[in-house]
Amino acid sequence: MDATPAGVAEPRRTPDGECILEGKGVAPGIAIGPVFLYARGGMTVEHRRLDPDEVEREVERFERAVERAERDLEKIITVARERLGETSAQIFDAQRLMLRDDQVYQAVLHHIRHDRCNADYAVKTVMTQHRRRLEASDSEYLRERANDLLDVQERLIRHLRRGKLLSSIDAETIVVAQTLTAADIVLFSRRQILGCAMDYGGPTSHVSIIARALGVPAVVGLQRVTERVQSGDTMILDGFEGRVIIHPTEDRLAHYRMRQERYRRLLQEQKSLIPLPAETLDGHRVTLRANLELEEELDLIEAYGADGIGLFRTEIQYLFTRRITPQEDDLYHQYRRIVEHVAPAVTTFRLLDMGGDKMLPMSHREHNPFLGWRGLRILLDRPELLHAQLRAILRAGAHGPTRLLVPMVTTLPEWRRLREHLAEVQDRLRHEGLPFAEQMPLGVMIEVPAAALMAEHLAAEADFLSIGTNDLTQYTLAVDRGNDLVAGLFQELHPAVLALIQKTVEGARRHGIPVSVCGEMAGDPRATAVLVGLGVSELSAVPAALPGVKRVIRAMNLDEARTLATQALQEIDAEAVRGRVETWLKQHGCGLLHDLNASEPAS
Ligand code: PEP
Ligand code: MG
Repeated sequence: MDATPAGVAEPRRTPDGECILEGKGVAPGIAIGPVFLYARGGMTVEHRRLDPDEVEREVERFERAVERAERDLEKIITVARERLGETSAQIFDAQRLMLRDDQVYQAVLHHIRHDRCNADYAVKTVMTQHRRRLEASDSEYLRERANDLLDVQERLIRHLRRGKLLSSIDAETIVVAQTLTAADIVLFSRRQILGCAMDYGGPTSHVSIIARALGVPAVVGLQRVTERVQSGDTMILDGFEGRVIIHPTEDRLAHYRMRQERYRRLLQEQKSLIPLPAETLDGHRVTLRANLELEEELDLIEAYGADGIGLFRTEIQYLFTRRITPQEDDLYHQYRRIVEHVAPAVTTFRLLDMGGDKMLPMSHREHNPFLGWRGLRILLDRPELLHAQLRAILRAGAHGPTRLLVPMVTTLPEWRRLREHLAEVQDRLRHEGLPFAEQMPLGVMIEVPAAALMAEHLAAEADFLSIGTNDLTQYTLAVDRGNDLVAGLFQELHPAVLALIQKTVEGARRHGIPVSVCGEMAGDPRATAVLVGLGVSELSAVPAALPGVKRVIRAMNLDEARTLATQALQEIDAEAVRGRVETWLKQHGCGLLHDLNASEPAS
């Protein structure tokens, strides 16, 4: 048996001399162009024992370097704020704070003064220790923060040497690097880079989030791509499939140019649907809303014609600020800006969904985090966290239509406890005389099979239900949603998942409340007709996916969708459902994005 995990595959070489490497596509699009190999680090740092009379001069040298690094980062924060908005600027603010973090700053001073070692060496030693602790963490989030620390370390050492940071790269190139920081990519984006390929990184790393926000196609986790290219080599980067091709043949180039062109045309064609309603041929309306997690994505709502926000994930605000839990007022001001921007359409804030793959630093190690301390469970155990966020959302709700969504609800008693906390927070706000939304609709996320099976009871005590199909699929089929080894078994169209969606819709219908789907499935045009046919009234997805979904809605009748859904429920596996859906889509003239994957030249 071949037990090699997908992520560590060797590069594939074709007889024509191409080198093909597989990674993870984290920002969509295709880039074709010359490589710019970006080498960071490589600075050797020697240890030197200081003479006693040198010590204070060395301390001063370190302090000046910190000040210069702070000025650097302030510049980057300004550029990030202009180009990306407040939330992204906070990433660099967090880096700026690392410079003066006591665990780092005081430890470096201690090394210089007590061990009489040179500042460069002290910085490297302290930061490396700190970084190793982060890298050894079970939390993907903390491991990725180690990159931020490396960026801070290199910046400081360069300033200690009064060296220049490499921030200018050749324009219109594909940047290839072992790892890039979010600061790098913000600066590079001013040079109109075509794409980014990296040895390391994950889809939740800052650089991935920023690449998506800036629309730069990116592939990460490519193993040793940096050892296989030189600046100037021609490369194709496929941000859909997570692949790069070095030294492509003319045939391959022609194929990818065609895909690039098709993607451009598809985006163009879908644009023409943006102002049109999401309505079936027989006049049934479906609400299409946006899934967002960054304030700077707000303009995408209008750009893709979404009817407000169906899911605003709030974790990033907590992750970016690392150990410092955001204060109620900071959250309130951010939430209020969002609500005001989106009004008169609705904003749906989801309460903090920590745990699983989104770990807070305070989390302890768990063998099975997805079945552990997660979502609502954490909130109920940490009322201070829950109350601060509830207050911020309720107060923001005074400024425009707002809904509140609760993640990982499993049992009815949990849900009731959450409502008790809500009532307590409302009472206190009333008592304090602070304006807040008295009638904010309250929704249960249906992401656990138990909740789907009990949907009728939950619906009796809620204003809407929203199905998180990412988790619902994971928990129904016992497939870790983030594990490459079992990715093929993660099948949202499996009849068992569809049956739980149907059960949820029935429960909601009995109490006359709406049901939405807000997992990735809502943005997959292959699932659209089945979901609408099952009775889902709202789909919430990443904004760029909405025109593709709308295209399917506008090509069908509601009755046809109902028939398709009934047939899908009777199938015995996901393959059969997919086959049926694909035939159905072809019959309805809906050529989909997967056309872009039309057969590649033989390799
Ligand atoms: C889901 O589980 O489908 C969902 C929308 O939540 P998340 O992906 O944030 O867990
Ligand atoms: Mg979820």
